[in-house]
Amino acid sequence: MKQFDVPVFYRSNLISLIKKKRKEKDKLKKDFTPTLLDFGPVQIFLARHFGFCYGVENAIEIAFKTVEQNPGKRIFLLSEMIHNPQVNADLANHGVRFLQNTEGKELIPFDSLTKEDIVLIPAFGTTLDIEKKLVDIGIPIEKYNTTCPFVEKVWNRSAAIAAKDYTIIIHGKPSHEETRATFSHASANAPSVVVKNMAQAQRLATYITGASPAQNFYEEFKNQYSEGFDVEKDLQRIGVVNQTTMLASDTQAIADFLKQVMIDKYQLTKATIAERFADTRDTLCYATNDNQTSVLEMLNTPADLAIVVGGYNSSNTSHLVELCEEKLSTYYINNSEKILSRKEILHYNFHTKQEILTADYLPTTEPIRILITSGASCPDALVEDVIQKLISFYPGTKSIEEIIAQIANT
Ligand code: SF4
Repeated sequence: MKQFDVPVFYRSNLISLIKKKRKEKDKLKKDFTPTLLDFGPVQIFLARHFGFCYGVENAIEIAFKTVEQNPGKRIFLLSEMIHNPQVNADLANHGVRFLQNTEGKELIPFDSLTKEDIVLIPAFGTTLDIEKKLVDIGIPIEKYNTTCPFVEKVWNRSAAIAAKDYTIIIHGKPSHEETRATFSHASANAPSVVVKNMAQAQRLATYITGASPAQNFYEEFKNQYSEGFDVEKDLQRIGVVNQTTMLASDTQAIADFLKQVMIDKYQLTKATIAERFADTRDTLCYATNDNQTSVLEMLNTPADLAIVVGGYNSSNTSHLVELCEEKLSTYYINNSEKILSRKEILHYNFHTKQEILTADYLPTTEPIRILITSGASCPDALVEDVIQKLISFYPGTKSIEEIIAQIANT
């Protein structure tokens, strides 16, 4: 895979070495077991795959290069570059300004932009409306577009389904930038609806079967369907795509469920299913798949707790937390400062959307065993900081340098 020029302060010597060694030994990515870092009283099990993905590294490289190559120019980002507070703060410190917040609310009026300005399109992509606004102002959108190719792949898949007259069902978070962008691109080609979870897929099914009156759909799915959507006509042939960072098992369950609904309603067979249901595999990206598979494998390791590092508004990170929570005590933090002491940790509950303080999060027995992973927008340097902080509470641990020397000799 292409190597990107990402600022060195996002890297970690320890983690870069681990990733390099694991890659050398497992070129085909078949081994998802975690890496044990044995510090003595503290044993860290690091997920096989975590941290910056292709799309994030690509976006960061373009953003920092743009800043470097355009001194004196006004540089804007449509919204957060990626869902990591440190990366966004670093860009803001380099003078980059944000035009919208993550919900799409305007922070700086578009009509204050001129054709001399540079506007970076984030890794999530953007809507056709916004692309048009920029083009109308005279701002080139190709050169500074960091839309991830794996997001574009979803748009292409949607277009392919649309070309065969299927309605597009998008499994995603309706307010997430990527889902808004995918919805915009999909609905330019075909009727489209967003479902955020299985509960909504089940509600949608009642409109497919006619169990719910069609007119209720418009209120129930408000802001989640394309203009002119006709419930009676547009739910007769469907295909499912998803936001690239959803939980793989959720998307699969939703696609399987909707497929069965169509089979039952239209008495379809294997030979005729394609008449009503587009044969799509999920459109999760490779990083989401690798990171979720790595967490599932890591969870087979007996451990005392899990720590997941990432931005609190990061969809892919929250799904890693969701998987860990099913198995053991899990703490979702966005940097090492949230580990207040050996006794207390401040961590995010993404269900209630609040940070909470938990006491006695570390067991008293040694060695303690901690599972660690991070989201696709989290710099490895933050994960190393977390490891450093944890081992600092235990006298007699090996140092990170000693572990690096050990790994280098394997
Ligand atoms: S998580 Fe996947 S789709 Fe999103 S930026 Fe990374 S590689 Fe691209």
